[in-house]
Amino acid sequence: MTALDIQRIRADFPILKREVHGRPLVYFDNAATTQKPQAVIDALVEYYSTYNANIHRGIHALAEEATARYEATRQSVADFIGAPSADCIVFTRNTTESINLVAHAWGRKNLQPGDEIVLSAMEHHSDIVPWQLLAQATGARLRVLGIDDEGRLLSDDIERLIGEKTKLVAVTQMSNVLGTINPVEQIAELAHQQGALMLVDAAQSIPHMPVDVQALGADFVVFSAHKMLGPTGVGVLYAPRDLLEEMDPFLTGGEMIRRVTYEDSSWNDVPWKFEAGTPNIGDVCAFSASLDYLSDLGMENVRAHEIDLVTVAMRRLSQIEGVTIYGPRNPEDRGGVVAFNLDDVHPHDLATVLDQHGVAIRAGHHCAQPLMGRLDVVATARASFYVYNSEEELDALVEGIEAAARLFRAPVPTRA
Ligand code: PLP
Repeated sequence: MTALDIQRIRADFPILKREVHGRPLVYFDNAATTQKPQAVIDALVEYYSTYNANIHRGIHALAEEATARYEATRQSVADFIGAPSADCIVFTRNTTESINLVAHAWGRKNLQPGDEIVLSAMEHHSDIVPWQLLAQATGARLRVLGIDDEGRLLSDDIERLIGEKTKLVAVTQMSNVLGTINPVEQIAELAHQQGALMLVDAAQSIPHMPVDVQALGADFVVFSAHKMLGPTGVGVLYAPRDLLEEMDPFLTGGEMIRRVTYEDSSWNDVPWKFEAGTPNIGDVCAFSASLDYLSDLGMENVRAHEIDLVTVAMRRLSQIEGVTIYGPRNPEDRGGVVAFNLDDVHPHDLATVLDQHGVAIRAGHHCAQPLMGRLDVVATARASFYVYNSEEELDALVEGIEAAARLFRAPVPTRA
């Protein structure tokens, strides 16, 4: 059983005390964004009430303190993901911006007509659209790794599609719909054998399991603070320093320059070359508190807790007549996400009934429309778990689904 003390953890999250429609809140929409512990809220308040200042430019105490705390978070991020140094960490607004940064700053410089970018059939739109635009701009072509009926990448496709034309492989480590955990280490190795680079979308993995970016062997790793107890508005791009140095700037203007004339400009050192303008200082500083919180829990424990929850959730959902669960059947092969459908009930209707029971889930295409096509559905419901969720909360989920089944699937009375 889990090593996490769920009741103690829950006490750290003020929002979990609230009710929704007169029922205790059951928050199962963690793949979209997570709730924040008091320590993160306090860190934000502390920034704005004691050391709010712009960074890297002021010669006064507040500016120096804000700069030191902002840069200390960069080191905390590096430590959390096993990066060799803080200058491999670029702060962006979110995973989406980190991927766009790579597409512009690396992609436009390095791709040519005929080159190939390999994605997978389970990518989030943010790991599709930037590559599509890049392909249109450079004459490169997208190739897509298929999945089997349990939502696992086809190993034949991995062997077949990653070849000498491949310049970049961009694959999610954990699907936000299927929960599938992909063998990104092996894929990175294959990519490197072909001289290609590897980008790992870790938006759903770094918040939920131990990840060491050097062991992954990936060239780019991207994720968002808001999915790991941190504030919104902070994303991360990890890349080795020499790769960042070779890349062109992305956004340009203040802070990212060394010298500017009307004729020409030169760039700041990495990572600041990629952080144009005033960054999201308060949120970056508060992100540190969420990293400390997760480190104290232990990422192995977070992962074990989610396997426990998913095991029970899958068992209980599969006992409800008419429920189809997507993704790998073995809970060990998936993250803390269960996407499902209830026969004859649109996921939006299901989510509305669950909301009436105080249960927050997501319903829709989950920013993965091509995957919905592969699953042959327009949408699914999705319950996604985190450190403060308990097995007891699954009762409310099951009750809500059964209520929706009664409401929408009741036989329509016929006239005599
Ligand atoms: N990639 C995956 C796998 C995701 O689940 C998400 C968000 O749900 C993203 C990328 C985009 O993250 P953000 O909206 O923080 O940019």
